[in-house]
Amino acid sequence: MRLREPARWAADADRAAAGEVGNLVENVIEIHGLTKVYTMGEVEVHALAGLDLIVETGEFLAVMGPSGSGKSTLMNIVGCLDRPTDGTYRLDGVDVSSLNRDARAEIRNAKIGFVFQSFNLLARTSAIENVELPLLYGELGWSKGKRHEAAIESLRIVGLAGREDHYPSQLSGGQQQRVAIARALVTQPAMLLADEPTGNLDSRTSEEIMGIFQQLNDTGKTVVLITHEPDIAQHAKRVVTVRDGRIQNDEKIQQHRVAAKGIAPPVQPMTR
Ligand code: ADP
Ligand code: MG
Repeated sequence: MRLREPARWAADADRAAAGEVGNLVENVIEIHGLTKVYTMGEVEVHALAGLDLIVETGEFLAVMGPSGSGKSTLMNIVGCLDRPTDGTYRLDGVDVSSLNRDARAEIRNAKIGFVFQSFNLLARTSAIENVELPLLYGELGWSKGKRHEAAIESLRIVGLAGREDHYPSQLSGGQQQRVAIARALVTQPAMLLADEPTGNLDSRTSEEIMGIFQQLNDTGKTVVLITHEPDIAQHAKRVVTVRDGRIQNDEKIQQHRVAAKGIAPPVQPMTR
């Protein structure tokens, strides 16, 4: 099932190991002159129009913007689900702009932990089995025991110790999203990429989930979050606003909103 490492990726990794890629550690995302043109018959839609974005390791970034501004297009490229028409994208030091579909799938699995609005859990599958899933496709080659242990640890981190054998239907929406966050964490990705993760949650539960992202960020995880809700974006440390396929505004949040104390459970750093 495992694909061969794409040559370009391997070459990049070798150069990185040799210390030739100076920014490997500092920048998780490095995007220059990114364009995406959709062609529909005679009409060309310039969804991204030469966008530049650098996200350093350890940042907590929210991407905002009105409908049609290019957020989803940007996120699909950042998430290695699609590739740009032009421009460059380096993910954790690896040039992924021109990788083919299989190579993108492999690097996506290794480097990105996705969290979706609709949780995307398998319904007839326990919490722990949901969390173990990404370890089955990955190239980590871990034993069954190690996968199990890692999944237990991830669930503990999001405050779900003791609920490993619950099915999604036995969990609240907030708990289901925590399982999804645990699943995103279990491969120890370079970044968490969350697309409207609170879109299906009430405001109290949204606050709780944002508290988990904040605590994960406090332990060093890079978090990139798409949201159209200003209140949610204010939990990040930096807010980028996209308009007409470009960055319109890029703002450090001096006093970012801290999710209410006592709601989110303590998050401990990974011990492995
Ligand atoms: P947002 O997520 O901010 O709402 P999108 O990235 O979905 O914005 O869309 C940006 C622009 O690109 C819009 O004009 C949209 O209509 C267009 N677009 C997005 N996806 C496609 C596609 N698959 N084919 C053609 N046009 C698209
Ligand atoms: Mg969208």
